[in-house]
Amino acid sequence: MKAQIIDGKSIGLQVRNNLTDRVEALKARGVVPGLMVILVGEDPASKVYVANKEKAAAALGIAGTVLRMPEDTTQEALIAKIEELNADKSVHGILVQLPLPAHMDTQQVLMKIRPEKDVDGFHIYNAGALMTGNRCILPCTPKGIMHLIKATGRPIAGCHAVVVGRSNIVGKPIAMLLLQEHATVTICHSRTKNLADITRQADILVAAVGKACMITGDMIKSGAIVIDVGMNRKDGKLCGDVDFASACEVADFITPVPGGVGPMTIAMLMENTIEVAEAVNG
Ligand code: NDP
Repeated sequence: MKAQIIDGKSIGLQVRNNLTDRVEALKARGVVPGLMVILVGEDPASKVYVANKEKAAAALGIAGTVLRMPEDTTQEALIAKIEELNADKSVHGILVQLPLPAHMDTQQVLMKIRPEKDVDGFHIYNAGALMTGNRCILPCTPKGIMHLIKATGRPIAGCHAVVVGRSNIVGKPIAMLLLQEHATVTICHSRTKNLADITRQADILVAAVGKACMITGDMIKSGAIVIDVGMNRKDGKLCGDVDFASACEVADFITPVPGGVGPMTIAMLMENTIEVAEAVNG
C-alpha cells in the first residue's frame, strides 16, 4: 500500500481537545455555549448522526442538545420552534437535522434560522457570503475537509482540485473553499462526460457522490490527495465513494471511511458553536 491515511478521527479529536480551553474561557465569563439540534421524525441514519453530535457536545460541556419532534410535526410548528430558539440568548447554534419529512420545504425551514446561529452554514446568507468571500459560518463538512487536506502539509495553491458532486452542502462549498485557497477547481456531476479523464488530472480529488466505491484506483492520479466524503452501505458495511484498496495503491494520501471526513464534520460543528458563542460575547 502506497497511500498515507489521513486520520480524521485523531485530527478531529485534536480539534475538539483544543476547543476545551475555549469553552472554559467562555464559562469563566459566565457563558455556556449552547447548541440545539432539532430532529424531526425517525430517520434511522439521522438518529445516529444526532446521537453523535449530542455526545460530542456533552463531552465539551456545550449545553442544549437535541429537540426531538414527531414525524407529523407541521412546518409551521417547526418554524415556531426555530423562532423561539432564535430569540433564546442561551442558544448560540441551531441545527435542523436533514432530511426533513417529505411534507416540509427544507429551504423554507432553513431560511428561518437566524444566519448568526446557523452553525451548519446552510442558510443562503452564509452560502452567499462564502461564495463572495465574505465572513460567514462555514458548513461543517467542507470546513472539516479543508483541515484534512491541510494536514497533509501539501500546498493547495496552484493544484488542480476535482470535486465530484455539486450538492449545496458538500460539493459546491468545498469547491469554493478550494478556490479561495487558489486551487484550480473542476466540479463534476452526474452529467459529466468522461469522468475518469477528469479525475485522473486531480492533485486533490474530493468524492461526494453517495455511490459506493465508484471512484477506483485507475481514475486517480499517482500521488493525489483523495478525500472520500461518501457514506454508503454495501453488504451491511459502511463504505465511501472511493474504492479504498485500489485507491491506496495510487494516491499519496487518502481518508478512510469510517474515520475520515465524518469525525471532522462533528468537530467543526462544535467549533462553529463555540465561535458563535465567542462572537456574541466578545
Ligand atoms: P447529494 O445526493 O446531494 O449529491 C450527490 C452528487 O453526486 C450530485 O451532485 C450528483 O450529480 C453527483 N453524482 C451522482 N451520480 C454521479 C455520477 N455517476 N458521476 C458523477 N457525479 C454523480 O449528496 P451529498 O452531497 O449530500 O452527499 C454525498 C455523499 O456524502 C453521501 O454519501 C453522503 O452520505 C455523504 N456525506 C457525508 C458527510 C460526512 O460527514 N461524512 C456529510 C454529508 C454527506 P447531480 O447534481 O447531477 O445529480
